[in-house]
Amino acid sequence: MAETFDVIVIGAGPGGYVCAIRAAQLGFKVACVEKRATLGGTCLNIGCIPSKALLQSSENFEEAAHGFKEHGINIGEIKLDLAKMQARKGEVVAANTKGIEFLFKKNKVTWIKGAAKFTGAHEVEVEGKAYTAKHIVIATGSDSVPLKGVEVDEKRIVTSTGALELDKVPGHMVVIGGGVIGLELGSVWRRLGAEVTVIEFLDKITPTMDGEISKSFQQILTKQGFKFKLGHKVTSAKADSKGVTLTVEPAKGGAAETVKADVVLLAIGRYAYTEGLSLAAAGVETDERGRVKIDNHFQTNVPGVYAIGDVVAGAMLAHKAEEEGVALAEILAGQAGHVNYGAIPSVVYTWPEVAAVGQTEEELKAAGVTYKVGKFPFMANGRARAMGATDGFVKLLSEKETDRLLGAHIIGPDAGGLIAECTMALEFGASAEDVARTCHAHPTLSEVVKEAALAADGRPIHI
Ligand SMILES: Cc1cc2nc3c(=O)[nH]c(=O)nc-3n(C[C@H](O)[C@H](O)[C@H](O)COP(=O)(O)OP(=O)(O)OC[C@H]3O[C@@H](n4cnc5c(N)ncnc54)[C@H](O)[C@@H]3O)c2cc1C
Repeated sequence: MAETFDVIVIGAGPGGYVCAIRAAQLGFKVACVEKRATLGGTCLNIGCIPSKALLQSSENFEEAAHGFKEHGINIGEIKLDLAKMQARKGEVVAANTKGIEFLFKKNKVTWIKGAAKFTGAHEVEVEGKAYTAKHIVIATGSDSVPLKGVEVDEKRIVTSTGALELDKVPGHMVVIGGGVIGLELGSVWRRLGAEVTVIEFLDKITPTMDGEISKSFQQILTKQGFKFKLGHKVTSAKADSKGVTLTVEPAKGGAAETVKADVVLLAIGRYAYTEGLSLAAAGVETDERGRVKIDNHFQTNVPGVYAIGDVVAGAMLAHKAEEEGVALAEILAGQAGHVNYGAIPSVVYTWPEVAAVGQTEEELKAAGVTYKVGKFPFMANGRARAMGATDGFVKLLSEKETDRLLGAHIIGPDAGGLIAECTMALEFGASAEDVARTCHAHPTLSEVVKEAALAADGRPIHI
């Protein structure tokens, strides 16, 4: 006899575990199936959390080595204990994944351990045991996109997973792909002493970012020592005991050249992961990129089967997955669950950070929207000067006619924190003037957001 639940969620990443907890809060009998030995999915185990732990540690290392002197702090020779740094990262991850286990117990969510596969529309099998539910949620996430000719061994040719585990700082790291994950992990190893070269197919890094911000981002990273080979593609990478030899060609065609590296990080994107799920047994359809197709209420083509997070179309971000998890659980409970995809922030946790919400200038131009631009540099902010963190600026875009905020783009210290108020403004349909007339504490970095909002009306005070 199959064990029965109201809701079975497959995958305990930020989409799945949040959906499971919210559904349990709403009174459903919930199980969450996870095949990994720990809960939390890509995000907590091999994504957001370990990468941020290493970003923080490497930032501290670089600050101690190069930043303290100008504050009048002399601390002698700085030594790296990479094994300790990696162990600390492990502790951070363990504390977070155990935290989800605690939350499952607290909310009476049953963790079914193992890989789930569909045996029918409302039935899954895990380790030979059958489970049924009225509602089944696919939240199986994503995996790294492979590249022909580049065979990953997670030692010398690594994905983000291997790049988080290196036990030695590489002399030269080549990052294939100028996206967020490559630049974050490239930053970690550059700060710890590696020479980092980014090879990107397109002629710009972080292509979906506002063009002006992306240009400034590349300039700042170049100043830090990053090398960029844009408009180039890697056609092969061969590893031996000494290192890796890459063959690189201009994207538009031309003579190939050879590049040597100690470690190659393949970071050209992530794809929706549904391997071993037997979607066909349930009759669930995917699109041309293998993503599970859903309607506006997260339902697949099969009634009672839903999908959320990285496995469906849209931004591959933990908080987008979480929002979808909550909205779906509320819809199942008869409530009006909803996600505003126009107000999902995105953050790059480099130094300085880069953050955005809403539309870019390029998108507004393409849509024929008339808009105003308000910009303000961190250089003119007292707190940024006190911190010694003056690189970057805030750029706000508002509709010309109504002044309604349409986009916010920040490159600078704590951009990831500052984007929260812009997201809230966008969510509430605020105008740039609303932001400008809101009192911001002094001296804080948030005053740069206020001044950018004033600048949209041509009247900043401090510049
Ligand atoms: C290096 C890196 C850094 C990142 N940093 C950030 C960041 O800073 N901020 C951010 O917002 N996003 C970040 N992301 C992206 C973020 O991790 C994902 O968007 C997020 O994890 C997606 O959540 P999810 O629940 O859809 O899937 P996942 O987190 O991928 O979870 C899916 C889970 O399903 C399980 N699973 C799969 N198939 C089965 C099956 N058949 N049976 C049982 N279990 C199964 C998997 O084991 C996995 O644990 C990062 C990603 C990487 C790789």
